Amino acid sequence: MLWPHARIRPARNVELLERVAAVRRATPESDAWLTLLEAALGESEDGAVWEAAVPSPAAERPVKAPLLAHTRITLDARATRGWVRRLLALALPGEARKVDEIVLLDAALSHDDEALDALARAGGADPSVLRVAGQMALLPLLQACARRLAPDVPAAWWEGYCPVCGAWPAVAEYTGLERKRQLRCGRCGAGWAIPLLRCVYCDETHHDNLGYLTPEAGEQSRKIEVCNTCKGYLKAVTTVRPLAPWAILVDDLTTVPLDIAALERGYRRPERPGYALEVRVEGGGGA
Ligand SMILES: [Zn+2]
Ligand SMILES: [Zn+2]
Repeated sequence: MLWPHARIRPARNVELLERVAAVRRATPESDAWLTLLEAALGESEDGAVWEAAVPSPAAERPVKAPLLAHTRITLDARATRGWVRRLLALALPGEARKVDEIVLLDAALSHDDEALDALARAGGADPSVLRVAGQMALLPLLQACARRLAPDVPAAWWEGYCPVCGAWPAVAEYTGLERKRQLRCGRCGAGWAIPLLRCVYCDETHHDNLGYLTPEAGEQSRKIEVCNTCKGYLKAVTTVRPLAPWAILVDDLTTVPLDIAALERGYRRPERPGYALEVRVEGGGGA
């Protein structure tokens, strides 16, 4: 495997590398995205810098606020700038020299599209690529947050959005013999249980308005949960074990045909996250 930038840490997780290689063979058009994902997961494995930046949850946050809401995240500026610069060199070779790395993470975490577009204009970078790169750049920080904050997730978290970062779930997992439904976040990897018959987006519980789309042929373990009240959909999978945090994004990519099937039938996923975090990301420690 060729690493275009020598200082990018290759991921050491063999299962991950094999899975990504298989996906790359099956969908060569995803190569650029997979390269960023591999870099982000490699960076995640060496998590001390990111673990150190995990904030304590704000004591006075609203009951329905995720753990990162209203927090201030202070990153090691030197390490963060180095990581984001390496990632941008992969995502936007020859561009984006003037993108401020800390501002990028701040805007990406808040899904502040205006700030992201302003950064792209100022730095001479392709705005759509910068948005994707911004989300990838956050992955090591968000995965560290989910690992460290897992004990703080309220036992009775019944919201449809992620209890750590506020994103909508990427997938609903049905695990074990009892097929317990667990929602999984594609950004931070957190998982949370939620009662079987309830729309994650609009809280609809009336079973007449909730249903499933199932693939006509092929995998029995896949289906799509749909809500006819808000027209939302969520992909679902039956698994023996919960997906590893890194596997959620890979799984999301390899099940795009399910997204297409849902979209063709008039269902969609919300464009904005479930909860606006109002979080500040800043650089500390010099540089
Ligand atoms: Zn999350
Ligand atoms: Zn709904």
